[in-house]
Amino acid sequence: MMRVAVIGAGVVGVSSAYLLARAGYDVTLIDAASEPGGGASAGNAAQLSWAYGDAMASPALFRHLPAIVMGRDPAFRIRWQFDAEFLLWGLRFLANMPSGRWWSNTRATLELADLSRREFHTVLAETGIAFDYRAAGKLHLYPDARSFSAAASAVARKTALGFEQTMLSRAEAEQLEPALSGYQGEIAGAVYTPGDALGDAAGFCRQLTSHMVRQHQVSVLFGRTVSGFVCRGDALSALKFADREDLPVDAVVVAAGPQIRGLAADLPEARAIRPVRGYSLTVPRNASAPAISLTDVRRKLAFASIGDRFRVAGLADIEKPGAGFDTGRFDVLKHAAFDVLPSVFENATDITCWSGERPMTPSSRPIIAPSRRLRGVYINAGHGMLGWTLAMGSARRIVDLISEA
Ligand SMILES: Cc1cc2nc3c(=O)[nH]c(=O)nc-3n(C[C@H](O)[C@H](O)[C@H](O)COP(=O)(O)OP(=O)(O)OC[C@H]3O[C@@H](n4cnc5c(N)ncnc54)[C@H](O)[C@@H]3O)c2cc1C
Repeated sequence: MMRVAVIGAGVVGVSSAYLLARAGYDVTLIDAASEPGGGASAGNAAQLSWAYGDAMASPALFRHLPAIVMGRDPAFRIRWQFDAEFLLWGLRFLANMPSGRWWSNTRATLELADLSRREFHTVLAETGIAFDYRAAGKLHLYPDARSFSAAASAVARKTALGFEQTMLSRAEAEQLEPALSGYQGEIAGAVYTPGDALGDAAGFCRQLTSHMVRQHQVSVLFGRTVSGFVCRGDALSALKFADREDLPVDAVVVAAGPQIRGLAADLPEARAIRPVRGYSLTVPRNASAPAISLTDVRRKLAFASIGDRFRVAGLADIEKPGAGFDTGRFDVLKHAAFDVLPSVFENATDITCWSGERPMTPSSRPIIAPSRRLRGVYINAGHGMLGWTLAMGSARRIVDLISEA
């Protein structure tokens, strides 16, 4: 039986390991942390955005760039780095901003999200795992008439592809989600996506890992950091660790998220991925919390009711790989969230703060491909803002690539 290791037990690695095991491979799932789902997947906004898919580099972001560069939008922060890789990544990001590039990146992401949705529902049906999954729907809240009417063309394009989205007035949105009557942010209109869902990504990682260990004899190596590859010629033969013997393998899926650069810096694919740091706050859910997921387009905040918890996530900080989080940014997020939904946050007794790095490519499209340098190495990384949404579709594609090799 072909031995395949998966490096990284975030949403992407866990999904890949599961589909590999189901396809009959001898799978070992490895993570530096002591349990699955602890990286970028842990405290994300929980959105399964089957019909969103919008690439980050966009004409709208281009128009907004002067405000970001001058530090006038608290949702973004750029830590300038004067190294060639950062500048190249930045130039490639800029090159993805024109409308044609944005739409082709968004369309490719939507196709992957749709594949993900189908695979995800199969996995739910066959495993029965529980992770606060809910088909909650989503409302994108637009602050003014200009941004709301600009959203219409993307809605029309997505609708033409078969995705369901509706433009609603504020009154119609409030009828759908009564908690919006207490929303203190500006709402000129909303785009409603009824098919979007949510779930706790970390819970998913833990539950699916236990399931595949029990039902599919997947081996796990947690608390172990892969330090490199052992090669015979240009082909992989084993994985190296700092603190245990090599693990002989026939193939490896590198699903190391933002840390791929630390593991495989000499692979060209790793250099295309940079961290974009985000933050989240989770509080016990009270009666004022909206049931439908919300995205505040002006403040770039995502809100979600996940089981008995309520979470806000946001901020996009482009920074040096390996830079830690900044506690001041929690305050920025806290102020923004408390301003718009005071009744949900103000009396919260217990606030869990979390920060993670989105593994971002300039196009927002993940890299799902065999390594160009090393035979037997497959990259499944760079899922940016949508890794939870795209994980299962990416897993399907990587398994197909390995099976066809
Ligand atoms: C604030 C925020 C909100 C977000 N909201 C959403 C959302 O609502 N919807 C959505 O779809 N996406 C969202 N995302 C994006 C999503 O969370 C990420 O794209 C996704 O988690 C990436 O998953 P991953 O498995 O690639 O990486 P990770 O979850 O980071 O997993 C990588 C794993 O690899 C391990 N690893 C790395 N290097 C090694 C090594 N050398 N040896 C062993 N193990 C190693 C790490 O320990 C880690 O556990 C959000 C992200 C952030 C930061």
